[in-house]
Amino acid sequence: MYTKETYQAIFETAPDALIISNDSGEIVDINEQVQTLFGYTKQELLGQPIQKLIPESFNSIYPSSESNRDGASDRKLIGSNGDIVARKKNGNIFFAEINISPLDVKEFKLTSAAIRDVSYKILTNQRLNKTLNTVKAKNKELEQFAYIASHDLQEPLRTVMSFVELFKEEFGEHVNEDAGKYLLFISQATKRMSDLLKSLLDYSRLGGSNKAVPVDCNEIISNIQSDLATTIDETNTTFCIKPLPSIVAYATELRVLFQNLITNAIKFRKKDDTPHIKILATQESGCWKFSVEDNGIGIDPRYKDRIFVIFQRLHGRNAYEGTGIGLAHCKKIVELHGGNIWLESELDKGSNFYFTISEELRDEQ
Ligand code: ADP
Repeated sequence: MYTKETYQAIFETAPDALIISNDSGEIVDINEQVQTLFGYTKQELLGQPIQKLIPESFNSIYPSSESNRDGASDRKLIGSNGDIVARKKNGNIFFAEINISPLDVKEFKLTSAAIRDVSYKILTNQRLNKTLNTVKAKNKELEQFAYIASHDLQEPLRTVMSFVELFKEEFGEHVNEDAGKYLLFISQATKRMSDLLKSLLDYSRLGGSNKAVPVDCNEIISNIQSDLATTIDETNTTFCIKPLPSIVAYATELRVLFQNLITNAIKFRKKDDTPHIKILATQESGCWKFSVEDNGIGIDPRYKDRIFVIFQRLHGRNAYEGTGIGLAHCKKIVELHGGNIWLESELDKGSNFYFTISEELRDEQ
């Protein structure tokens, strides 16, 4: 078996700084790493209180007294969140992660503490959190900007639109063919700008003040089918809808999400095929995964990310009506529900939109 010397060598070469203390919290042994990490010699530390190295916070956590020792259950890892600060001989401090274990050897009640400098990890996390918060704040600012811009721009646009109409009514008969064409272009462009502003306004309003409530997805789909009855009839669209769950969600937004995907599935149908839409949901760990599949014109996988960006379209307005905001809406709604949205598709082979909704949303009614 191992000799005492072998154990001593293992102790000395351990990667962590190891400190053994007695039940009064005095240091009784240290390894080489302690000297490297803290800058003290062994002589300077033996017999000293452990607080010399770990000043304030350590006192309450360290199982020094007889009463709070409870064998193996006293083993703990502390400081992983940056709440323990250690001090070196030169006064420099660092974030320490400490593995504490009781060592009940014969009559001695000792404690071993394996100390690691985790400053780099903690500071990196802090920096990442700060960046994340800045990005969140910037996003909020942008949303507010989009809201104000789209709201305020509507007013002058309405003025232009109504004066074009007045002009047409009063002078329509007297203008020549070219002027008539120009007026038509102005009307079409202002109408389109108004549609874009309206959708931008809707986008920035999404998820503003609603509450999460229990919703039955089957009911949402059948309401959408009633609303779209005319389009469904005209296009001979058929559905295959598997039993869907009831979930806690933002009801209005969830409806917009399904409605956008269903309208797109009908809109982007193949010319020589009637649309068929399949909707199903499966339960995954911590979320529901939905899929809305169609047999339409499909999407080149190269554009699988671009289509979710606001105002991005793959087709001209003459081929398919639209503003290019529907899927950006869907993405925002899904993210509001703690989920993701993605696409599996190939040109000419139909599209399958997947999205997840987190099960962590709580009923806020
Ligand atoms: P819009 O429908 O107003 O164009 P969307 O944001 O809903 O805007 O969609 C963006 C683009 O993604 C569409 O212009 C279209 O090119 C493509 N797309 C979306 N859904 C489908 C679908 N089910 N099948 C084929 N292409 C689609």
